[in-house]
Amino acid sequence: MSAPAAPSPLPTQPASGAKGAPAKIAVTVARGDGIGPEIMDATLRVLDACGAGLEYEFIDIGERVYAAGHSSGIAPESWNSLRKTKVFLKAPITTPQGGGFKSLNVTTRKTLGLYANVRPCVAYHPYVRCKHPGMDVVIVRENEEDTYAGIEHRQTAEVTQCLKLISRPGCEKIVRYAFEYARSFGRRKVTCFTKDNIMKATDGLFHKVFDEIGAQYPEIEKEHWIVDIGAAKLADTPGVFDVIVMPNLYGDILSDVGAQIAGSVGLAGSANIGEHGAMFEAIHGSAPRRAGQDLANPSGLMLAAVQMLVHLGRTEAAERFHNAWLRTIEDGIHTYDIFDAAISREKVGTRAFADAVIARLGQKPTKLAPVAYAAGRTGPAAVVEIKAASKPVKRLVGVDVFVDWDKPGRDAASLASIIEKATGSLELKLKMITNRGVKVWPEGFPETFCTDHWRCRFVHKTQGGTVTHAQVVSVLNAVAAAGLDFIKTEHLCEFDGEAGYSKGQGE
Ligand code: NAD
Repeated sequence: MSAPAAPSPLPTQPASGAKGAPAKIAVTVARGDGIGPEIMDATLRVLDACGAGLEYEFIDIGERVYAAGHSSGIAPESWNSLRKTKVFLKAPITTPQGGGFKSLNVTTRKTLGLYANVRPCVAYHPYVRCKHPGMDVVIVRENEEDTYAGIEHRQTAEVTQCLKLISRPGCEKIVRYAFEYARSFGRRKVTCFTKDNIMKATDGLFHKVFDEIGAQYPEIEKEHWIVDIGAAKLADTPGVFDVIVMPNLYGDILSDVGAQIAGSVGLAGSANIGEHGAMFEAIHGSAPRRAGQDLANPSGLMLAAVQMLVHLGRTEAAERFHNAWLRTIEDGIHTYDIFDAAISREKVGTRAFADAVIARLGQKPTKLAPVAYAAGRTGPAAVVEIKAASKPVKRLVGVDVFVDWDKPGRDAASLASIIEKATGSLELKLKMITNRGVKVWPEGFPETFCTDHWRCRFVHKTQGGTVTHAQVVSVLNAVAAAGLDFIKTEHLCEFDGEAGYSKGQGE
């Protein structure tokens, strides 16, 4: 079992400033596009008024920066500020249409290693209409791995692939973060969603690490759901969940579902946490049609700013800000997007909403539950990478050779006969052929639909024999000499005697 990791240090945290007041903490701020500048100004005003003790370094991101020729929407010199402050409060930007542009969020997450995306999904019933009064779920999404590595290939006329990469350190970091989050905020349960009944190696690893690390948190309840039924349950009865941790793709989808069913997609903030920095933002976009009209709801960014204050250990300010915001919502002071004549008392614009929050600093909600952040206690810091206790013994036992083959009839037996003729004299032998994962040779079914993409599995003629790279190369040479177009190989390895590959049906 890996040793628990030490939390990494927080960003620049000067101990104290003049006259005993805590020294200011520098934060990088981007005002973004569309409604971004308005909601950021509103948020910064409340941050200043609640005694957050921050100073801001402004950087430019978004439309103007893209237009100046920076394909990620951020200028190279802005990274200096982010590297220095390690904390980024970011307003939404307008993503340009068309090719050639990269997502600023993806670039920032990957560059700073922001592996944990934390999104609280909270209902504010009866003050904001929602499907599930009482919903209070935190979704912790892995942010760097899975299909989001963006490694995709077109391999044949008909078939494309996307690699799903899940690493043990990646799983350990995110799962430990979820448990540390639960511990820091007094949450009772952590649930894991995966699809490990199908993806036994990748999602199976995530689940396995969840079980291993979960065992180190005896006070926290643990459970695992297959993501499909888990998602249905989340949409139907979110009250059974508390913190949910999941791989990137499921987390991307379900964190939006979670925010939407809480009734608060325009009210949700999110944190992206990593070892080298943290980014805080609203989950909505730049709403260009609402820009410049003093209409937009600044709540999503405000709640992201509260997450930032907790991250920085400015818990007193976080509590004042959050409780004043809750009181404002409870008092029926609502922007147009959540205004409801039957519930709301006053329809306000962006600036007036910020004024209302500032006026309530020091007050608590009386109907909604007030928040309390343990004094000086930060949220969990990013967890450093954990090294596996020992390297497993790796042994090559075969190879899958993928070929692009499109002869009339697409008869697997014909393909097998060509391959067996070409490789018959070698040390490796053809064991099976699959098409889109379905075994089509030997003993395939004529009903199986076949594409032009075939996986041909080779193993040693001596059962269980170790395979060498030279033997793999001989197979490839023979396959190519037979006129077959091989498009990729995947090695079949055992780790400590355990197969590190999915076995075909019937094996
Ligand atoms: P959007 O979130 O900007 O708007 C969706 C709807 O919600 C619109 O009707 C809008 O008026 C409303 N809305 C959103 N935020 C609101 C707020 N704070 N107050 C009141 N109403 C609000 O999504 P979209 O229209 O699909 O995207 C607009 C632009 O934002 C696009 O260029 C998109 O790429 C970008 N975007 C950026 C981010 C980001 O920077 N993190 C995230 C999502 C979308």
